[in-house]
Amino acid sequence: MSVRVIEWSPRELIVAGGGIFPVRHAWCVGRNYAEHAREMGADPRAGSPVFFSKPATALGNDRTVRYPDRTESLHHEVELVVLLKAGGRHLQPEQAGNCIYGHAVGVDLTRRDVQTRAKQAGHPWEMSKGFDQSGPVGAVLPLSQGGPVADDVIELQVNGMVRQQAVLGDMIWPVAELLARLSEEVTLYPGDVIFTGTPAGVDSLVPDDRVTARIGPLPELSFTVHAGGHD
Ligand code: MN
Repeated sequence: MSVRVIEWSPRELIVAGGGIFPVRHAWCVGRNYAEHAREMGADPRAGSPVFFSKPATALGNDRTVRYPDRTESLHHEVELVVLLKAGGRHLQPEQAGNCIYGHAVGVDLTRRDVQTRAKQAGHPWEMSKGFDQSGPVGAVLPLSQGGPVADDVIELQVNGMVRQQAVLGDMIWPVAELLARLSEEVTLYPGDVIFTGTPAGVDSLVPDDRVTARIGPLPELSFTVHAGGHD
C-alpha cells in the first residue's frame, strides 16, 4: 500500500517592500466589535475576549481560495491582523504593543453552519475555523513603514459591493489590550499572528465571488473564491 507524500514547509507571508514573515501560530479573537457580537446573538459587554486558533498552514497570500467541503454557508470576516516580532507572558499593554512587527488585512473564513451546529451541541468549533485556506492575508506592512490608527476604515467588498465597514476604533478591546490579555492565557512568541475580530456584516460567499478587503494604509487583500469539489 502506497502513501501519498505531501510536501510541507513552515508558512511564510509576503512582506510589503520585500522579505517574508515566518508564521509560528495563528490566534484569533471572537466578538471584538459590538455590532458583530450583537448580530451573533451575544452581549458585547459580557466577559473577556474569546480566543481560538487556526493552524499556521491555514494562512497564505493565495489569490484564489477553494470553496471548502462540508459547508453551505462560507462566511467572510474581515479582520486587522497583527504580526509579532517578540513575545512573552503576563505582558502589560504597552509591552505587548512593543512586540508588534507589523500589520496586514486578513479574512477569517468561517463555515458558519458547522460553527452553529457545534455551538448548539456544546462542541468545539475548531473545524468551522481551521480548514485549509481559511486565513487569506494581504502583504504585511512592517510598523517601520507605518501602521493603522483608530480612525482608519476597515472594509470588505464582494464583487464591488460593501458588505462590512467600520472603523478600527470600534474595537471593544484595542490591539495592545488584546495582546496583553492573550499573554495571560499563553506565552506569545515571535512569528505569532493574531486575527483581531470582525465588524458587523458577515455574510455568505459563493464560487466566483471576488473579495476585496482594505484597512487604512495596509496593502489591499483580494482573492477569488473558486468552486470546490473533492480531491
Ligand atoms: Mn473572526
